[in-house]
Amino acid sequence: MADERFEPPNAFESPRFAQLSTFMRLPHTKDPAGLDAAILGIPFDGGVSFRPGARFGPKEVRNHSLLIRPYNAALRASPFAALRVADHGDVDTNPMDIVDTYQRIERAVSRILDAGAVPACVGGDHSISLPILRAVARKHGAVALVHFDSHQDMWEQYFGNRYFHGTPFRRALEEALYLPHATVQFGIRGPVYAESDFEFGVTHGVTVVRAEEIHQKGVEPALARLDRVRGQKVYVSFDIDSVDPAFAPGTGTPEVGGLSSAQTLALLRGLAGLDIVAFDIVEVSPPYDVSGLTAMLAANVLFELLSVISLRRASA
Ligand code: MN
Ligand code: MN
Repeated sequence: MADERFEPPNAFESPRFAQLSTFMRLPHTKDPAGLDAAILGIPFDGGVSFRPGARFGPKEVRNHSLLIRPYNAALRASPFAALRVADHGDVDTNPMDIVDTYQRIERAVSRILDAGAVPACVGGDHSISLPILRAVARKHGAVALVHFDSHQDMWEQYFGNRYFHGTPFRRALEEALYLPHATVQFGIRGPVYAESDFEFGVTHGVTVVRAEEIHQKGVEPALARLDRVRGQKVYVSFDIDSVDPAFAPGTGTPEVGGLSSAQTLALLRGLAGLDIVAFDIVEVSPPYDVSGLTAMLAANVLFELLSVISLRRASA
């Protein structure tokens, strides 16, 4: 098994639209042993505050991954030659219970981490980042964080509930799962309730690179802010609503004025060199999508992150 190559099927022998839709039609296995990265679907949207549907994210991201070809020409990376990657299937979430779902997610992610693989998680709404980070911190200690989002997700509560998709990075900070001084949030924008909404992050030393700043100054100065992340183990959390709704309409809480897909790819490729130990891609809501745009972008985000990880592995 160790010599067996896990690569997407040859599209000249099996057309891309044929066979079961695992991610990029990679092999499906529930055994993480021997993998470098395991793609894990987390179909849960019990933590949304506005438009639902992210529970259908993993299925749609798999469907829209079929066209992606295996060589990343921009990064000169061959992720599936450098890494053993498989589709680990989905967590069986409990659609009626967020706390039980958190335990199920934490167990599944821990199993992947204990096998020495990178969990490549596809949600699901953003509430799932908390149990993933619990598993990651138990394995690696508190990690650096690169967070793409139009929202900080650091609110205190919603209708009395401390767990929903607007609180994961407040809860995770309270639980010391990540290092706030080694945290960069890209793409923050949109109306909030008051300036005081930003206080929690400011007080704890989180670096915010607002969408407006990226539009005015470009991607390179934004990437320079990653200096505080380098040299640490990094968790990447990618909320698809960091991207403008013109490029990613299928999401629960869209905000105008966001990143273009081109800016997004440039930022992701700028993560090359970071020691990424786990990541998530969240908030893809297929019922609100148009022509699969959002799921297609999410599938490409997954491919870019695997490419970035493979470059580091290839140079190590
Ligand atoms: Mn979010
Ligand atoms: Mn968001």
